[in-house]
Order: sequence, then C-alpha cells, then structure tokens
Amino acid sequence: MSELFQLRCEQCGRHFGNGPLVLCEDCFAPLEVAFDLPAVRAAVSRDQIERRNPDLWRYAEFLPVAEGFRSDLPVGFTPLLRAPRLGARIGSQDLWLKDDAACFPTLSFKDRVVAVALAQARAFGFEVVGCASTGNLANAVAAQAARLGLEAWVFIPSDLEAAKVLGTAVYGARVIRVDGNYDQVNRLCVEIADLHPWGFVNVNLRPYYAEGSKTVGFEIAEQLGWRLPDNVVVPMAGGAQISKIAKAFSELVATGLVEAKPVRVFGAQALGCSPISSAVSGGETEIIPQLPDTICRSLAIGNPADGYRAMEVIRSSGGWAESATDPEIVAGIRILAEEEGIFGETAGGVTVSVAGQLIRDGRIQPGETTVLCITGNGLKTTDALVSELPEIPVVAPRLEAFEEQLSGVGARR
Ligand SMILES: *Cc1c(COP(=O)(O)O)cnc(C)c1O
Ligand SMILES: [Zn+2]
Repeated sequence: MSELFQLRCEQCGRHFGNGPLVLCEDCFAPLEVAFDLPAVRAAVSRDQIERRNPDLWRYAEFLPVAEGFRSDLPVGFTPLLRAPRLGARIGSQDLWLKDDAACFPTLSFKDRVVAVALAQARAFGFEVVGCASTGNLANAVAAQAARLGLEAWVFIPSDLEAAKVLGTAVYGARVIRVDGNYDQVNRLCVEIADLHPWGFVNVNLRPYYAEGSKTVGFEIAEQLGWRLPDNVVVPMAGGAQISKIAKAFSELVATGLVEAKPVRVFGAQALGCSPISSAVSGGETEIIPQLPDTICRSLAIGNPADGYRAMEVIRSSGGWAESATDPEIVAGIRILAEEEGIFGETAGGVTVSVAGQLIRDGRIQPGETTVLCITGNGLKTTDALVSELPEIPVVAPRLEAFEEQLSGVGARR
C-alpha cells in the first residue's frame, strides 16, 4: 500500500495507519485521511492530470487509493457550466453550476464518495458493504457494489422517495427500510458494523468516503483553468462535502497546482432540517440536533456527523450559511430548470434558493466568480413537484384544436 496517506486524529494529530477506523482511541475525535503533500506534489503535475481520462481517478495521488490502483468506473468529472440566465435572475454576473445531477452512474455526487470508499473496502478485504442513507448514497452503493461483485446491504428511512428506493432495489441490493429517521438508521448501522464484518461506507469507512468529496473541488479548479473561484455554495447534510471541497482547495494550493486565493465557502440547508445553518447564523459554538421535517429528504440529517467541522470551515473562510423553506426549494428547482435547462433534485433547489438570499443580503457580490454545487438529479424527487406544476390539458389530434389552444396561450414568433 502506498503510504502517501494515513488516518490521523483531527484533534490530537495521532496517526493510525490505514484501516476501517473512525474515532481516535485517545480523544474520541473523528479521524481523517492526511496526505504527505510534499510527496504528492513531487508525484504529479497539471499536465499529467490533464492527459488522464475525464473521471475522478485523474486525481488519484490526492485520493486514499493504493498506488497503481485502477478502476474502469468513469465516475465524476461532471460539467462545470456557465449560468448567465440564472445569474441574471438571482443577481450574479459570473455564476457557474457544478452539475453532479449528471454524475455517473447514479446521477448524484454520492457516486464520488462511494467510488473511493469501495476502493478501500476492497483493499481491506470486505466482501459485504453497506450504508445508512437518505437516498442517493443508497443508489450509489447498490450500483457500484453490483459492478464490483460485492454484496450490498442498504439501510434507509422508510419514507424515502419511491424513485430512490426503486433505484436501489433494481441493482439487487438488500434494502432495509427502517421505521425511523436517518439519525436512527445511522445509529442502527453503527451497531451492525460492530457485530458483522461489513464495510459501511459512511460508518466504519467514513474517513475514506469523505475524501471522495474533494474531487468536486479539484474539478471546479481545473475546469476554471486551474484557478479557484471566489465563492462556492454547497448543500449540507452530514457536512462532509462542504468540508472536503475546502480541503481540496487547500491541497491544490499546498501542492502548487493553483495559486493561493481566499475562497468563501457557503452552506445551504432546508429550513426543516438546518442544524448546521442555524448554528452558523445563530453564532452557536456547537451543533444542536434537530428532528427533520422537509421535502428535501436527501439533506434530512438532524445530527450531522461532520457538522462541527463544516461550521468551522464556513466561518474560517469568511462564508455563511442559510436555509430555504419548502416553497423556496420548489421555486429554486423551477428557476434552475427554466433558466438553465438543468433539473436538479430538492437539494439543488435548496442551493439555488440560498444562493439568491446570499446575493440579496450582500454576502456574495455580483461580480465575483460563484459556483453552485448541484448535487443530484430531479428525476429522483419528482414527488416534490407533482402538485406544483399546472396540469397539462389534452387536445384532440386536429389542427383547429391546437390552434384554439395556441390562441389561448400565445407563442414566441
Ligand atoms: C448527501 C447529499 C448532500 C450532502 O452531503 P454531505 O456530505 O452529507 O453534507 C448534498 N446533496 C445531495 C443530493 C446529497 O445526496
Ligand atoms: Zn485524538
């Protein structure tokens, strides 16, 4: 195994080598993967990265995978799109969308974290993998486990969107629908991981899983021409993604791949489950758990594992966090679709809505380069929209019938 990386306690700094571990034995703080950045710097250049396949494995030296590791799964390297129309609508002149609604293979950013976690699961010899999920993670674990020939056990709250349940079961995963919320599902998985020799991607493999989120940050920088944006707006559930995007930016600076520059990191949550945003905007020193009640199920984690870290990252970057009501989430989904042709899930609605608030409140300036992370696909959360869009009338298959309807609504000529 390459020793460019190993687990380290976030608090006391003690090193633990590599293994399915999550907490420091001494201080019970979370472990994270630390890299030997001077060695990474010596091992890879911009040119080398640019010549590799367009997927997240092009950043292999920055990921916790063994040297020489190969994967044929082209996960990541999703489009970074200019969004001039949405920008004009919400007041930004240099707005970009990182479009993980198009991520391979299951249309959310969770494909990234699972790709990295399963690479380690195999390195540690696990034949059974699992997760506690709010939906997208379940899809990603089920699909990638199927391709790798691993058995998957997926634990979800019983009230998830039908498309997310179906989009897990179709891969042959064992789906356990738990009569409880995500936080209860997660606690159950912690107990199961103690009892069975299984690799739970976001429980006992969590430090490796979390590193996969860095690839969003690497791609944003590379796709902007090896330059950092002024602002990123990131939806938060457990708080890993936002923390790791910030880590990616600092690793790129530390290895000389981009020039140093302050990036403000902004977090977005649904008002019905906003433990991190509330702590940031309320000036709290800790995260107070909440009971989720929102249409945005993918972000409905009331007791976020990386909430404290996310809060620190936001504050130290000079960023902020806000939340969006359910009607604002729906409005956000609709303006993203209508202005840019991208159908994001409820988390995308949260991000667009919160970005609008941040611009209106003057926390993000119109001329700054601002990237919104669109993290999942709207086809999985159509439940949130069915009662919102007008019913579409049926016309007879005759020209007069169509012309009659046209005269009622008009068309651009
Ligand atoms: C899980 C998820 C997030 C949040 O990720 P965390 O790392 O848990 O904060 C954001 N968007 C979507 C669509 C997700 O499924
Ligand atoms: Zn420690």
